[in-house]
Amino acid sequence: MRLADRVSRVKGSVTLAMTTRAAELRAAGVDVINMSVGEPDFPTPAHIVEAAQQAIADGYTRYTPGAGLPQLRQAGATMLARDNGMEATAEQVIISNGGKHPLFNACMALFQQGDEVIIFAPYWVSFPEFVNFAHADPIVVNTDPDLNFEPLFDELEDRITPRTKGIIMNSPSNPTGGVWRREAVQQIIALARKHDLWLFADECYEALVYNGPFVSAAVIDPRYEKILTFQSCSKTYAMTGWRIGYMAGPVELVKAMSRLQGQSTSCPNSIAQMAAVAALTGDQSVVGEMKAAFDRRRKLILERLTAIPGLQCREPGGAFYVFPDVSELFGKSVDGRKLSTPEDVTEYFLTEANVVTVSGEWFGDNRSIRFSYAVSDEDIITATERITAAVARLN
Ligand code: PLP
Repeated sequence: MRLADRVSRVKGSVTLAMTTRAAELRAAGVDVINMSVGEPDFPTPAHIVEAAQQAIADGYTRYTPGAGLPQLRQAGATMLARDNGMEATAEQVIISNGGKHPLFNACMALFQQGDEVIIFAPYWVSFPEFVNFAHADPIVVNTDPDLNFEPLFDELEDRITPRTKGIIMNSPSNPTGGVWRREAVQQIIALARKHDLWLFADECYEALVYNGPFVSAAVIDPRYEKILTFQSCSKTYAMTGWRIGYMAGPVELVKAMSRLQGQSTSCPNSIAQMAAVAALTGDQSVVGEMKAAFDRRRKLILERLTAIPGLQCREPGGAFYVFPDVSELFGKSVDGRKLSTPEDVTEYFLTEANVVTVSGEWFGDNRSIRFSYAVSDEDIITATERITAAVARLN
């Protein structure tokens, strides 16, 4: 089949591929623990589900405006004011199909061939793909694992050229769990200002920050109009399947993105939008309860992974991932099988411990692997026991 070139510019989603692999093994009767998934294991809170049922009964079953229902755009603005202290009007908010979609649309609206967009490694797998899709070039800048995976600023300055159009930052980060200090965010904003760059702040894990308050980039410098704030209901409210996310930014950009959205998906799902109104404006104690569970699991997995020889684990300050450096295992072998890359380690853990993780190579890192701890405490205990045994067999 002759497909258009743009398809070959874009890689498939590895985390979805790992989930499929785990499901296949499970179907074959293997007792697999899947720690590759990037979604809360909690059900969507009851009052949100009820709002969706009510929306169906009330006839919210038709097209909505392309940029989303006015009450949801307002709810997005209200959440940003309430939780972040950010001033945004409903017109500055666009509702999209999940948090991924406004990121994609913003890249499509702002970047094109010849442009360069800076992303930080380890990066969320989709960032380079959004940029590739827009026919622009992702430029990868490294980060400091010993300092919350904040950017190496000297390298960053060196990589900015007249072609640079934007920077994509993601704190708390997927895959590292790193949360940047306020100073680092300030430094990025200063650079964006100096070079007149768009600054994408993907803050979809902001509800999961464990060691102190979260500081939103747009709040640090409310006067810099080129800061875009990306949010999602997926992680905060355990709503990954509902597909509601949003962005706050300049009205002109919101209009451009809703034009693209109107001609691609028409509008986000009307019922899910009503559920999202309930999520954003309703009882927030559910968010705190899920956060407390994640924090408990974070401490548990950290303690247990740190005890495994060969895994070097930094404390993640946010999200629900740990990203241990496994490079000390490289060169070790068992039964003639030698581990040389993170991919080899994930494969070894999958086949020898029946634990699914994701190789750092997918995130632009060749020393580490990602564990998601959005699984039960029991699974964390069993998985780390099995990994400890598998590592002990290596020599
Ligand atoms: N941004 C980051 C960093 C993510 O990890 C994800 C999901 O894994 C998203 C955005 C988008 O999530 P969704 O489209 O499910 O709302």
